[in-house]
Amino acid sequence: MKKTITLKSETWKRDSHGLFDYESKETQKHKLIIQENSYVIRKNDTVELEKSLGSTSTGLAYIISSGSSYKILPLNEPLWKVVRDLKEGSSSKAYILKQNDTLKFGRVKYTVKELRSSPNEDMVNAKEVEVDTEGNSCKICLSEVIEPDNPLVSCCHCAGTMKYIHIQCLRMCVAALMTVKNNEKCITYTWKSMSCSLCGEPFSNALRANGILYHILSVQRPEIPYFIIEASSIHGNNRGMQIVSLKNSESVMLGRGHDSDMRISDISVSRIHARIKFHQGQFLLEDHNSKFGTLVQVNEIELVPDERLALQCGRSLLTFKLKNS
Ligand SMILES: [Zn+2]
Ligand SMILES: [Zn+2]
Repeated sequence: MKKTITLKSETWKRDSHGLFDYESKETQKHKLIIQENSYVIRKNDTVELEKSLGSTSTGLAYIISSGSSYKILPLNEPLWKVVRDLKEGSSSKAYILKQNDTLKFGRVKYTVKELRSSPNEDMVNAKEVEVDTEGNSCKICLSEVIEPDNPLVSCCHCAGTMKYIHIQCLRMCVAALMTVKNNEKCITYTWKSMSCSLCGEPFSNALRANGILYHILSVQRPEIPYFIIEASSIHGNNRGMQIVSLKNSESVMLGRGHDSDMRISDISVSRIHARIKFHQGQFLLEDHNSKFGTLVQVNEIELVPDERLALQCGRSLLTFKLKNS
């Protein structure tokens, strides 16, 4: 039986930071039929299929047949799942968050660093580090004294007499780099640089040494459930990390408005843009009909027969549906 993909594309005629305006009528629409391996490309405002990738067009996606189905792979630019078109965890316009997901609200990108709903610490993303066993001294306090909860570790590329640092001294260094703002549900940390001032290696939120977990930001972690997301693109003041508690409420609002629990101060973010709620042990990300969308990056995705899949690539929205023909 032959499988056919229907691809409906919609391209925003403005080219602005790779955004697609979900409210605009200024779009160009196309409908394409895919029956073999194809490149989906954009020339000006037109989405077309090609057998090979030319240099005058933008490659949006590669469609490759895989057994009885098709896979979609990114080309020149990342592919993003459109949250408003999903239905996960019995909610519409919702996506179940996973650790290490890359999210995009308008043009602001975040990485999901931690999702904590149980006291089990296995989910914490900790970097394995080496512990000093030869009586070296700490590069900050110059002492070689160690205690069970305060070992000397090597957490960056520094070497020689600069190699080791106490866990406590590292926590102090990290705390000194950050400014902290609190509201009822959200602790916001912002910083200019969060890396070793000598070798430039970024600091980790948590370390694991000899099998023991050390939180480097241990003081401010709230009670479960909570999540931590970190801004991975820099726009205005958005460099930093947000720790959001869902202990006393079932959801938090994300947006540019003053009344949102987690503020994202960027013009591409709607006043109330998205919501994250904790339901039956899962963190659900919901889009709030935002102008520029709530997106989750995908690397490779397989089409499920008869299920619609909406992906955004730059200023084009691609909606796929696989059918037997
Ligand atoms: Zn020290
Ligand atoms: Zn270093």
